[in-house]
Amino acid sequence: MLEFEPQESLVARIAALPKIHLHCHLEGTLRESTFLELTERDGLPTRYRPGAAAEEEDRSPREPGQVYAFADFSEFLLLFAAVSRALSRPEDYARLAEEFAADALRRGVAYGELFISPSVWRFFHPELDLRACTEAIYEVFARIERSHGVAFRTIVDLTRNFGAAGALETARFAASATELGVIGIGLGGDEARFPPELFTDAFAFARSEGLHAVVHAGEAAGAQSVRAAVEQLRAERIGHGIRAVEDPAVVAMLREREIVLEVCPTSNLRTGVVSALEAHPLPELLAAGLRVTIDDDDPAIFGAHIDEEYLALARLAGEPALRACIANAIEASFAPLSLKRSLEERLRSTE
Ligand SMILES: [Zn+2]
Repeated sequence: MLEFEPQESLVARIAALPKIHLHCHLEGTLRESTFLELTERDGLPTRYRPGAAAEEEDRSPREPGQVYAFADFSEFLLLFAAVSRALSRPEDYARLAEEFAADALRRGVAYGELFISPSVWRFFHPELDLRACTEAIYEVFARIERSHGVAFRTIVDLTRNFGAAGALETARFAASATELGVIGIGLGGDEARFPPELFTDAFAFARSEGLHAVVHAGEAAGAQSVRAAVEQLRAERIGHGIRAVEDPAVVAMLREREIVLEVCPTSNLRTGVVSALEAHPLPELLAAGLRVTIDDDDPAIFGAHIDEEYLALARLAGEPALRACIANAIEASFAPLSLKRSLEERLRSTE
């Protein structure tokens, strides 16, 4: 019967579902129009090329619809850096949070843990007051929580590229900002060149401070990186983790420890980690009994937002699989138990 069902009714049911962000980078939600406006204001190119002549960067695209384009994972990381560079003042971060929240509420997001990357902010703007920027985000989120009852928290990404010492320094910043909505640390950036083993000190410190710990792994590097993230950094959740399928022993370890994988299908496609959506190992991960959640990673840059990812999954794997992923996200979130129970209730009410 399903093939005769009008497309609109599936879209309407997806729209009604509570959406949970566990893997979304706040900077990666910056609207293209805002990115263009900020770069124009500050006379910045829309591309970042380390060591490149200014003229080369000046040829960067400014046509709406062309700005968030890249060829592969390393180009994506440079584009993410250019987006972060455009955010140069605390009020820019307030605007980023404001526009993210407006878009998220419109798409039915009910709870979110958002990555922020203060070490990248500071790389481009050494004088930037990281605390003031984090506070600007926090104030917007606190207001949204009061007015709409939707909670957004932040996870400070340590960003591998700054090495072990830089990561420890950023972890210290995270620990100092818990009253500003920071609940944990993450580890994104160049996974292939900076393996988890380098960051044991930063993660041990963060744990001792009561912060949650999540790690991007099994995206640009293989299953061994996933194992190291769990065993050496004691990651509570793995960002992506899809290359765990390369080693059945790692899949078994994830299943036994009930580690959640935050899967972002369009991101994997756009960064070239998978060659086509049909080739995505998501069905394999689900069939192996792993706990999976679905998210959008850097939705503005990748051009696919959480509701669109949910819709794609419902079409690929069916609505029960999607509902299971949402239930996993609620359970694997770092939200207080009372909030988890009310999110579960909201999910049930859409059945
Ligand atoms: Zn990510």
